[in-house]
Amino acid sequence: MSETEFVEKLRAIVGDKGLITDEQGKHPYVTDWRENFAGNALAVVRPANTEEVAAVVGLCAAEKVAVVPQGGNTGLVGGGTPDEKGREIVLSLNRMTRILDIDLIGYSMTVEAGVILKTIQETAAANDRLFPLSLAAEGSCTIGGNLSTNAGGVQVLHYGNARQLVLGLEVVTPQGEIWNGLRALKKDNTGYDLRDLYLGAEGTLGIITRAVLKLWPKPKDVATAWVAIPSPEAAVALLSGAHAASEDNVTSCELMGRQGIDLVLQHIPGATDPLSEKHDWYVLLEWSSTRARREGENAGGLREKMETYLGEAMEQGLVLDATIAQNEAQARALWALRENHSEASKKEGPSVKHDISVAVSRIPSFVTEGLAAMRKVLPECRPVAFGHVGDGNLHFNCQAPAGWDKARFMPHTHAVNAAIYDIVVGYGGSISAEHGIGLLKVDELAHYRSKVEIDTMRTIKRALDPQNLMNPGKIVRV
Ligand code: FAD
Repeated sequence: MSETEFVEKLRAIVGDKGLITDEQGKHPYVTDWRENFAGNALAVVRPANTEEVAAVVGLCAAEKVAVVPQGGNTGLVGGGTPDEKGREIVLSLNRMTRILDIDLIGYSMTVEAGVILKTIQETAAANDRLFPLSLAAEGSCTIGGNLSTNAGGVQVLHYGNARQLVLGLEVVTPQGEIWNGLRALKKDNTGYDLRDLYLGAEGTLGIITRAVLKLWPKPKDVATAWVAIPSPEAAVALLSGAHAASEDNVTSCELMGRQGIDLVLQHIPGATDPLSEKHDWYVLLEWSSTRARREGENAGGLREKMETYLGEAMEQGLVLDATIAQNEAQARALWALRENHSEASKKEGPSVKHDISVAVSRIPSFVTEGLAAMRKVLPECRPVAFGHVGDGNLHFNCQAPAGWDKARFMPHTHAVNAAIYDIVVGYGGSISAEHGIGLLKVDELAHYRSKVEIDTMRTIKRALDPQNLMNPGKIVRV
């Protein structure tokens, strides 16, 4: 079949609305969010439902055309970008945006894969429920992408990552068959767990088309504080005490270094420093509870408990200064400072990102060693460390020296990566805590994980996708 005939067969399945073949139209789908990866595609195909996805994938299997699934294209490791040859298709789920069911008694929601994360959060909230997955890209990323990357975000500490927030899945296999695993069951021990296999597989084993998500009661009392601290040691100690002081209601604990905050203040319009003096390290601490504040209550609410706790921590030298948000608008402004770190870094110029995790208690010594190693490899670099300290997960990034462009910076990135990852692995940590492997870390994964682990991944990939057509080249090469 010629390329033209193949494209016309695609058109017959998804219609004109579901097919993009012109270069300008394809551009946003073949370039990643950070503009580090750029590819080309035969076509961008946007099916409207599961049956169309299955028909497209079936056609691709018959014609041996590779498929690159894509949701919101906010991934940071090139997982949703096609290669440069222009022979793959991008299969975008962005027309599959229906919320199919909300079960208020069973605390679950069934959705199509292309629903934007923020829409899911808002729908849950409108029904007095919470869908706790929350990350800075939530206005653009899709639930299919979140599940395929096993996304983390700012509330993993309390609710778990995407894997813990899903009950059932529907998946189109590389052969174009539909596996209906949309079971809203909390207990289901019936053989191998296919759901867990597809979650976090970055589209290399099949295409997630629908999901049953877990919901929680909506918090009624929330306290948010911006806390200046003397060191990462203080962050870990502050978090440790906060669990008991909040009666196990810590939902977020985000660490930020001053460099990242300065970038946000410089590049994000409207951003302001909540404290009058500058400090080296900060924590954004959030507690939330489903117990409502009672009218006139001045002692039992979370805000008062947090104030008492931070006061005691200040006396112990763990806190240098702090402000507690008095209303939702103030809390949102504090969160914006944290959530705009990636955007501000992008505006500042090139950087290398290290999405690492180690045991929470080892974060302080990792930061000390990591900063020293980064400066040894590239003395002019600007380390920007921030992230989910409550999960032992830091974005331990290296911003290019001021004024350097990509061409000057890129030759140094391999040495910087090796220096950081060697330390991480020495700590028993992970080189990708939440963003996945994609294209960016294929070599590192092969280097840092054992032969038995990589061989097992290859065996699974070959068994489920023997033609290697499902997002080839991502995670492991076969
Ligand atoms: P895409 O980028 O489109 O795809 C990601 C991967 O999933 C690709 O490999 C793609 O092939 C595959 N895929 C997409 N949809 C499907 C599907 N339906 N079936 C099978 N495979 C599919 N991530 C975190 O975990 N935590 C964070 O805190 C976080 N913060 C971020 C902040 C910013 C500013 C940005 C830009 C990104 C951030 N990310 C974070 C990364 C990213 O947003 C997440 O990985 C997100 O889950 C990706 O969703 P998406 O819909 O954009 O997926």
